[in-house]
Parts: sequence; C-alpha cells; structure tokens
Amino acid sequence: MAPIDHFCCQNSDCLQAGVRGGENLHIRGDSGKGRRIRLVYCRTCKRSFSERKGTVLEHARLPDEKALALLNHLREGCGTRATGRLVEVDKNTVTRYLAKAGAHAERLHDELVALSPRTREVQVDEKWGYVAKKEASRDPTDPLDRLRGDDWDHTAVDPESRLLLALVPGERDGQTSERLIRQVHDRTGGRTDLLRTSDEHAPYETAIGQVYGVKTPRPRRPGPGRPPWPAKVVPADLCYATVRKRREKGRVVEVVRALVFGTLYLLGRSSASTTINTSFVERNNGTDRHQNSRKRRKTCAFSKDLAMYRAASYSIGFSYNFCWPVRTLRGREGEGPWQARTPAMAAGLSDHVWDTRKWVTYPTKPR
Ligand SMILES: [Zn+2]
Repeated sequence: MAPIDHFCCQNSDCLQAGVRGGENLHIRGDSGKGRRIRLVYCRTCKRSFSERKGTVLEHARLPDEKALALLNHLREGCGTRATGRLVEVDKNTVTRYLAKAGAHAERLHDELVALSPRTREVQVDEKWGYVAKKEASRDPTDPLDRLRGDDWDHTAVDPESRLLLALVPGERDGQTSERLIRQVHDRTGGRTDLLRTSDEHAPYETAIGQVYGVKTPRPRRPGPGRPPWPAKVVPADLCYATVRKRREKGRVVEVVRALVFGTLYLLGRSSASTTINTSFVERNNGTDRHQNSRKRRKTCAFSKDLAMYRAASYSIGFSYNFCWPVRTLRGREGEGPWQARTPAMAAGLSDHVWDTRKWVTYPTKPR
C-alpha cells in the first residue's frame, strides 16, 4: 500500500492545511465504485478527503494504468494523436490529461524546487517553439492568431546538477527575461555568488541589474528640484558572463566570451566547466526537444493550442528533473553497482528516482 507520509490536509480551512509529514492524517476506509480509492482522515479538522484530491488522477475516468501510459507516451516524445492511437483513447482525452498534468507539474515545481541550496551556477537561454503557425505567417487582423505564433521557453539550468531550475514561457522580451531572472533569484535564496552565463540576449543584463541591484542614493545637484531617484547598483561579488557564437554558413567559427559583471573567481570551484559556456542549457534544450514532440523540428506534431504547448513544457520539464536519470550524473561507491541519479537527486531535492505514478499522485497543497 502506497505511503501517505507526503500527503497534506486538503481542507484549506484546516490549521494544518498544506503541512506535509504531519501526524494528523491516517487512512479511513475506501471510496470509489470498486476502485479502492482510499479516504484520508485529518484529526485536526475532523474531515476526510480522497487520496486523489490535488492529484492528476482526481476525477479521472480512465483506469490508472491507462492514464499513466498516456502520460508516459507523452513524455517519451509521442504526439497527442500518436498517444491516443497507442493508448486507444480519443485525442481530446489525451489533451485533457495533459492540461491537468501541466498545471500539476507547475505547482509541484514551485513547491519542490522553491529553493535549490546547492546551486552554484546557472546558465540561462531562450528556446524557440511555435503554436499552430510560425510568426511570419500570423495575420495581425485575425483574432484567432493572437495566441498563435512563436513562443519562447526561457530556461535556467544548473550545470552541476543539470537541474531545470526555472522555466518561464513567453515572448522573447525584457519582461520574460526579468521573470526568469527573478525566479533564479528566489529559487537560489537571493544569493549573489552564482556564476551566471547566457547568450548575448541583451535583456538579461538589464534584468540582472533590476533584480539584484541595490538601491544606492545618488548625489544631489546644487540648486532647486527634487532629489534624484536612487540608482540600482549590482553587488561587487555578482558574476555574469556571456557567450556569443559567430557563425559562417551555419557553422560556428568563433566563440566570443565576455564578462559583464564581477570577476571570474567563481569559475575555479565549478565541477562542470573550466571556461565560460552555455553548453549545459543547450544540452537541456536538446533533451527537451527529444522528449517533447511539440518542440521537434520539421514535424507535424507541433502544438495547435498555446495552453497545451505550455502544459507539455511544464509536465515534461518536471518529469525531466525528478524521473529522468542523467547518464553523466550516475555514481557508485567503490566497486559497487552504478546508481542512477536524476537532476533533482544531484541537487539534493530528492533521494530516489521518481516514476510517473509518483509525481502524478503526489498531491499539491490546497490553494
Ligand atoms: Zn485538516
């Protein structure tokens, strides 16, 4: 019988709502017509709730195995229609489960990767994708085209643990870049001593200044007028460097590295890199394009709906962090057997490889 140690009371009015690992919960009987869905009872608020409350399987009509197979196919690079054919369900059933899985994954990521204390380096990048049609084919007068066209996943990856620290989809502009940098700030506890690298996308520099800058008063000029606004000054120990690749006929002929803020003293402690690079976030882009059929190039499996596109990004991103053993992260003690490790394990956020059932049935906290 699956443990409920990680459960929390789903009654939002309860004093222990959202508190995991408490002594207040225990199993009290079953519900569901012959499906043996357990009822969890909370001693604090004296209410009970289904073990499926707050999970992807809440109100699910498909048998568990079918629902899990459906989500497994999606994360292994099958498109919606291919998944429907393989699992023998309608394509609309596939998208319904995908939407639930995406929302669930986004909330779980916000909780379980809220803070990554071991992260010492971050590489950020923007990954192109599109919904229904490419940007050049959009008709600005067609209201349906408002949610179609290019969409950019702004991602932050920890090169040492390969953890997908933050994912912010949106336009390729300053606002999205700032939201990404703010998430990096929050998920690393606001530490400034991180080695940050990116491509030469200019908004990152502004965003780092905005998010990490400390308000410093500026000297007032003699004469009348209001005092000047304080300036935002980036702390001295903050490090940010960029990599620019110059291409000729599609091939990289030169890599230009530039230090934007701070010094490179942090590079010496890196277990992943000896030079400024964005290789790890680019490798993550490759893995994501491999796992997410919507992002594969030159196929017909592209997304037709923005909400589904983003739901797939979140669910596959979460499953990458917690379920995907990365070959180069594996470890062994002495001559013992090799142990698989996921990015979340390398980052100290989990102690085992999760399977799809685990994260799909891991209840989120009540709102
Ligand atoms: Zn309760």
